[in-house]
Amino acid sequence: SKKIVIKIGSNTLSNEDGTINKEFLERLCRQVALLETEGKQIVIVTSGARISGIAKIKKWYRKEDMNYKQALCAIGQVELMTSYSCAFEVHGIQVAQMLLTRDDFCDKTRTLNMRNTLFTLVDEGVIPIINENDTVSVEEIKIGDNDTLAALTTSLWNADLLILLSDIDGIYNKNPKEYQDSILIEKVINIEELIKSIEIGKLSSFGTGGIETKIEAAKIVNKYGIPMILANGKREEIISDLIEGKVKATLFK
Ligand code: ADP
Repeated sequence: SKKIVIKIGSNTLSNEDGTINKEFLERLCRQVALLETEGKQIVIVTSGARISGIAKIKKWYRKEDMNYKQALCAIGQVELMTSYSCAFEVHGIQVAQMLLTRDDFCDKTRTLNMRNTLFTLVDEGVIPIINENDTVSVEEIKIGDNDTLAALTTSLWNADLLILLSDIDGIYNKNPKEYQDSILIEKVINIEELIKSIEIGKLSSFGTGGIETKIEAAKIVNKYGIPMILANGKREEIISDLIEGKVKATLFK
């Protein structure tokens, strides 16, 4: 595959205390830089604005108020982009921020503008880093999770592959964090069958979507004939290993 969208979940990006996991970011950016030198094109969809905001402004931690949440995202988004920008700069790669909302995918003109920006950035060798624009998205109109945002971006860009990096090796027959005897499902051909056959457990601490939204994301991209891989971002050389088929994950095809 030439055009790859990589989505990074909050848990993958952050340490236990909510600060950004710099080692992870460095590894990710090194692997992405390598792919770029091989002629591949990469778009990143990243979560982590809210946890970065929480780590920065600790005293707001308990506020469940919507405006506080949005404020935390606004604070954290800067931290997040700064971290990506620094990690990619080492490899001589520029990044660009695109903050999107559901409306951007519904309105023709906005979709076209966004698509043009995306293509222009990639053509110029810049890596677009996408996140939901939380400061303008209220609960009712939100995409709500970056798995869906990544899937919509993948189809908009007409990518060849979507990779979701989470903190588990893939989809299991039951939550691997609750059951030691859970079994990894390496290939999913029929999504409806999968949904009927697995047990979906609760979310991890900072997760927003969980397994449901990852399955929904697969549905969206598979409809366009684009495969999706759910893999473990905590593994050292995950992206290169995936591409070389050296690591276990879940492929939706
Ligand atoms: P992310 O932040 O990477 O988007 P989430 O926390 O939203 O990830 O979702 C991943 C979590 O879903 C895993 O950490 C896992 O504990 C949980 N989970 C629940 N049921 C399953 C299942 N059947 N297979 C795999 N993971 C599951």
